[in-house]
Amino acid sequence: MQKKSVVNEAEQIQLAMQMIELGARLQLLESQTTLSRERLIKLYKEMKGVSPPKGMLPFSTDWFLTWQPNIHSSIFYNIYRFMVDYAGVDGIQAIIKAYTLYMQQVQHPDADAKEEPVLSLTRAWTLVRFIESKMLTTKVCHCCGGQYIVNSYDLNQNYVCNLCHVPSRAGKTKKAKELSYKLVSMTA
Ligand SMILES: [Zn+2]
Repeated sequence: MQKKSVVNEAEQIQLAMQMIELGARLQLLESQTTLSRERLIKLYKEMKGVSPPKGMLPFSTDWFLTWQPNIHSSIFYNIYRFMVDYAGVDGIQAIIKAYTLYMQQVQHPDADAKEEPVLSLTRAWTLVRFIESKMLTTKVCHCCGGQYIVNSYDLNQNYVCNLCHVPSRAGKTKKAKELSYKLVSMTA
């Protein structure tokens, strides 16, 4: 049982506020802070002006393997790994820091700030859990050298990423190319 102190509670509120700011779902807030559900709902309402959305957390690994989400998930995870390996942070703090940087990388400067990012904070957290539980892993693309999220149960021999091998209907968009440069420069 965690000791209840004013300092600890202030820290927990700070953490919850950071996560709400980044779009966290209630279940994520509940799992990462010691605050009660009632307090979290109250805090959420105070910050966002609306009640937190209901519904289950995403639990399937499939989403992370589809074309666009895979690129975004890979960018986030590369930043996260860097945070854990070199910046001396871990757990939810590493996820928050990495997610903030991910948002800076993928959001266009002229884009509407209210535009939903492809990868939400809740999904980013789920991704880390999937990798920790070895359902997903990363693989280096033979073509560009970037590190990408793959299914642990696939063979992935001579793996070629979604950017080097673009499915015909997705098209090689300018935006996708920009993202691939970012990813390769991050992992090279
Ligand atoms: Zn590639």
